[in-house]
This record gives sequence, structure tokens and C-alpha cells, in this order.
Amino acid sequence: MPDRKGNNKNSKDKRKNNNGDDDYNPRFRKMRKKVCFLCSNKEVELDYKNPEQLKKFINEKGKILPRRATGACAKHQRRITNTIKRARHIAVLPYTQG
Ligand SMILES: [Zn+2]
Repeated sequence: MPDRKGNNKNSKDKRKNNNGDDDYNPRFRKMRKKVCFLCSNKEVELDYKNPEQLKKFINEKGKILPRRATGACAKHQRRITNTIKRARHIAVLPYTQG
């Protein structure tokens, strides 16, 4: 008898927890962890004289994209930022656009 009671309680708790899928949570959309572009392509060197390469890291307004958009690691995001700023200074990239 006490065993059954315990089981009942357990199943009730489980139902409460398993509201749908176990790892389904609408607050956390399935976001694949992006791997850093520059870590995975070691042969790619950031070049402040190459606007075509740097355009991938700025938006249509000319702003530098945040890490969540570029997917870069801390080290490379810093590199990207510095490189873009350098490129802007020599007028290879715009400070603002549109
Ligand atoms: Zn990296």
C-alpha cells in the first residue's frame, strides 16, 4: 500500500515535469552553438585593408556586429573589432552607412 502511494506521487511529479518534451522550453529557442569562424578557419587572416572580408562583420548601417551575431570567440571578436576600427580609420570601411 505505501509503495503504491509513493508510486502515485512519483508519477504525478513526473507528469508535472514532463509538460511536453523534456528539453522543450519556448524561452530557449533551439540555438545551435556557433563555432568561431576564425578558430575553425586558421588560414584566414583578418586584414584591415580587405573590406570584402570585414563586411561580413558589420551590418547595413556599418556597425560592428555583436558576438551573438558573428559567433566569434572573445579573442577573435576583439581582433575583428580592432581590425574594423583600423579599416575605418584609413577609410576602407565606413563609420556609418545608409
Ligand atoms: Zn576564435
